[in-house]
Amino acid sequence: MSLSSYEVIWKQVLDQVEQSNFFTEDTLRWIKNTTLFKIENSIAYISYRSMVTKTILNKEETKNMITSILSEVWGSDVTIQLIQYKDMEKLMPEEEIQQRTNQLLKCTFNEEYTFENFVEGKSNQEAYAACLSCCNQRGTHMFNPIMIYGNSGLGKTHLLHAIGNYLKEERPECNVFYAYSGDLVSILIDAMKSKNVHGNTVDKVKSLLVQNDYFLIDDIQNLTRESSQEIFFTVYNELISRGAQIVITSDMHPNELNGLPTRLVSRFNAGLSINIGKPEFETSKAILKKKIEGNEEACQIEEEVLDYLAQKFSNDVRNLEGSLNRLIFNATLENPDVIDINFAQRILMNEVIVNENDELTIKKIKKAVTRFYGLTYKDIEGKSRQKKLMNARHVFVYLSRELLHKAYISIGQELGNRDHTTISSSYERACQLIKNDVNFKMAVEKVQEMLEKK
Ligand code: ADP
Ligand code: MG
Repeated sequence: MSLSSYEVIWKQVLDQVEQSNFFTEDTLRWIKNTTLFKIENSIAYISYRSMVTKTILNKEETKNMITSILSEVWGSDVTIQLIQYKDMEKLMPEEEIQQRTNQLLKCTFNEEYTFENFVEGKSNQEAYAACLSCCNQRGTHMFNPIMIYGNSGLGKTHLLHAIGNYLKEERPECNVFYAYSGDLVSILIDAMKSKNVHGNTVDKVKSLLVQNDYFLIDDIQNLTRESSQEIFFTVYNELISRGAQIVITSDMHPNELNGLPTRLVSRFNAGLSINIGKPEFETSKAILKKKIEGNEEACQIEEEVLDYLAQKFSNDVRNLEGSLNRLIFNATLENPDVIDINFAQRILMNEVIVNENDELTIKKIKKAVTRFYGLTYKDIEGKSRQKKLMNARHVFVYLSRELLHKAYISIGQELGNRDHTTISSSYERACQLIKNDVNFKMAVEKVQEMLEKK
């Protein structure tokens, strides 16, 4: 019921109180200085501004009279609870939270992000298959949670929305919840702030969340607030025990989610973690083709151009699509007969420079480190614990971490599949050496210089 409907009801009540001629004019003035805030679970919350009003309303006979008139106008018995006007404001956010939560529970999905529109390739087919198959599982889920991790722009959000779109269509009876973890955190924090006379809002939010059959959380790495982790943890466990399917995305392997407590991470590890990588050449091309599908007439693009884009921009599908959009946009301005390689190179010149020359990759770091130490890849990837080799590895790990913010797990893959814990100790060792060993520090600086000259 809206606030203005309460106003109407309250006016009726006050009119009747006045007509009863029971109170003096003065007393009546005090009584009229009140509002009916809301009626919930047969409790009518009436707010007052002054202590005089409170005293009057608390008198047995006043209270009885108002209770009986209000019950009649409202249509069923109510009891009265008095609240101070300024406390009423504390009650307000709860409605907002309720609205926000309801809004969030009614998740909408981007219609473009479907399984049909997702191009499968080697780099993403496992993630694709896991997401699709969980949509058709009933009862106990084989892998719970499914955790998809990988760099930005590689289709994680797309896949979560694809699950949502698919279920909406094929299994409309399912309750599906989707949120960015950041949004979830703000809901939880709001809920925590508004503990009030209505009881615990957090409990309400929790009970709404656990009612879902599918629980899709995007970018879990942003769930860094401790208090919200606590709530998430209980919701998570409850969902699992109720047999809901959980799908989570992250920009890092679960073991590297430093901001999250280990008990949560170990739960994530209980399911299936799948890496989503950058698309190979053919997949990138297929993504581009999908994008122009149906518009071939309007934008004629030479095959060679698609090859060019697929080669240069496949680190991030967002950039890949962006480069194509840019070409199409410029073509509408210049109207060339066909978008050929010259046109493409001219339009995308600036972007390519950034992509080709400035972009540092882990491979380039490896190359520079081995060149500096006069080693081969085999040496650095191998098992020998010779000091020079160990130092070269430390430099490599340190720079990959510092310059590229690479996950320990992916650095480990570059170093002969070393375990992420080995890499993390290597990084710590490098930090120590930089402080205590001038030669090591210089080596780091030299390699970095080599990389900058590249
Ligand atoms: P992430 O969440 O991993 O950062 P997104 O899911 O937001 O990435 O993807 C970025 C853009 O690239 C989106 O427009 C998405 O539709 C598109 N995209 C990514 N991978 C694919 C794919 N395999 N097929 C089609 N489109 C893709
Ligand atoms: Mg995303």
